[in-house]
Amino acid sequence: MRTSQFPLNTVKETPADAEIASHQLMIRAGLIRKLAAGLYTWLPLGLRVLRKVEKITREEMEKAGALEVLMPALQPAELWQETGRWQQYGPELARLKDRHDRDFCLGPTHEEIITDLARNELKSYKQLPITFYQIQTKFRDEIRPRFGVMRCREFIMKDAYSFHLDQASLQQTYDLMYQAYSNIFNHLGLKFRAVIADSGSIGGAVSHEFHVLADSGEDAIAFSTGSDYAANVESATALIPEQGLAPPAEVFAKVATPGQKTIAEISAFLDVPAQKILKTLAIMKISVNEAGETAEEFYNLLLRGDHELNEIKTRKLLGDFRFATDEEIIQHHGCGAGFIGPKTDAKHGVIFDHSVKYLSDFVCGANEVDFHLRGCNWSADPKTQAFYEKALAENTFQDIRNVVAGDLSPDGQGEITLARGIEVGHIFQLGTKYSTAMKAGIINEEGKSQIMIMGCYGIGISRIVAAAIEQNHDSRGIIWPTKLAPFQVAICPMNMHKSERLKVAAEQLYQDLLAAGIDVLLDDRKVRAGFMFSDMELIGIPHCIILSDRGLDAGTFEYKARETKDNIECPLTELISFIQEKLH
Ligand code: ATP
Ligand code: MG
Repeated sequence: MRTSQFPLNTVKETPADAEIASHQLMIRAGLIRKLAAGLYTWLPLGLRVLRKVEKITREEMEKAGALEVLMPALQPAELWQETGRWQQYGPELARLKDRHDRDFCLGPTHEEIITDLARNELKSYKQLPITFYQIQTKFRDEIRPRFGVMRCREFIMKDAYSFHLDQASLQQTYDLMYQAYSNIFNHLGLKFRAVIADSGSIGGAVSHEFHVLADSGEDAIAFSTGSDYAANVESATALIPEQGLAPPAEVFAKVATPGQKTIAEISAFLDVPAQKILKTLAIMKISVNEAGETAEEFYNLLLRGDHELNEIKTRKLLGDFRFATDEEIIQHHGCGAGFIGPKTDAKHGVIFDHSVKYLSDFVCGANEVDFHLRGCNWSADPKTQAFYEKALAENTFQDIRNVVAGDLSPDGQGEITLARGIEVGHIFQLGTKYSTAMKAGIINEEGKSQIMIMGCYGIGISRIVAAAIEQNHDSRGIIWPTKLAPFQVAICPMNMHKSERLKVAAEQLYQDLLAAGIDVLLDDRKVRAGFMFSDMELIGIPHCIILSDRGLDAGTFEYKARETKDNIECPLTELISFIQEKLH
């Protein structure tokens, strides 16, 4: 391409609503333009990158034996009603009616559609296992669309679905997909990790997320320093070493803590570290009985002051819940939040986080406004001891907190360290959730009908473009990994419009590079050299060839790699082989 025919829509100013580098650079480099919140147009330069992500993804899917299909974005409500997701899916599901007043949605994902296809098309076990995939537009009315194409309302996903007769076959395809995903991110030149992920509401199911590591990532990832254990903090197991309960050393006292409500405030006010404070949270467990009536039950959750509640783990344990209101807290504790502590005579449920087990000489709320207790111990008196021992006996010590740096790795090898990640892929063993609900059966070897087992595998194609920039940029712009770059090479002739022979040389070189199968951009604009260079740096072209009259005299060209500062001078005769070497 030539810049005269392929306009670069670069802009100088950083857009005011772009918080992170990739969003700013995608606008500034002219890759995307915003239409409305969470809706973006891909400009020609951006689309070239998007297509490269698609191409690599498609190649690996084909290699893994997946078959490409293309399903409609518009989906009838009936299928979603069959699985119950028409009701369950919240406002993220974009619902609409057609002219006949029938309900439809714009697909946020395609489990229902593919399961419908499978139950109609697959008849015999001989057709299994089979994996279908598509690269298609998804709609999710995200509550907070942000960071450009990173979290938007309309985006491109590669989604794949596999069908099996048994778990062993699902595991095989799952492993194949895990490998295909690793290949994709390696080809794209991204630093990534596969991490154990939350398997959602279906207990026991296996799931992994693929994260591109970047400080701006929305997810926290826990890694072990001593093994290859890696998990999303949402699902990383929090362990503390077994240890004895230290004998009481401090004098028990009720102390005035006027207005001191938060852990930080109490820690500062009483001069005790947060690890020595017991945090009591109050929630209402929500359950629905068979008659469809909702019941709510008050619970205390006990955590160490320096730890945070993990709501996903807690939901797995207790089911749905909400935080209690101040009135509800007062009703059970006699005072509002900020001063509550465990009640040994409580009628309500209590869940202890494991880390609370070995607390000694700790501080907790006194269940009285403006007072806390210090020098607390589980063995302080018979009532407290009985409360503690009942919890041990009833196994109400559970893992309900987020891991923190320095925790033991759950596999016993090394410690946990934390990093930020951008979720770019998610693979999942679905089991029979959708096939049971939609009666997707097949005739097995014994001639009997059997429900199929399913896996699903998603990749955020458009999010990958943003994630790649997040990981590869500097103050001057994007630094594309070669495989992702919209153009691999830029030719920048200096003052070409003043020199006919330079024009001829640039044109010849352009043709030669094209003939060698290289994605090349010839900058034939009548602009200053500095302007040209800063544009090429902003749009992140990995390799830049600078041609000048002076160079032609000497039989040389200048080469500059995007990621380095210095220019190298090379003989013109070796140019093609020089570039080919750089590209490999
Ligand atoms: P997230 O936790 O980021 O909301 P998710 O768990 O909802 O992601 P999946 O349903 O697993 O995502 O979708 C598969 C992939 O699609 C994700 O791994 C991600 O890369 C991408 N994706 C999901 N939501 C969006 C979005 N709103 N904008 C762009 N890409 C998205
Ligand atoms: Mg989501």
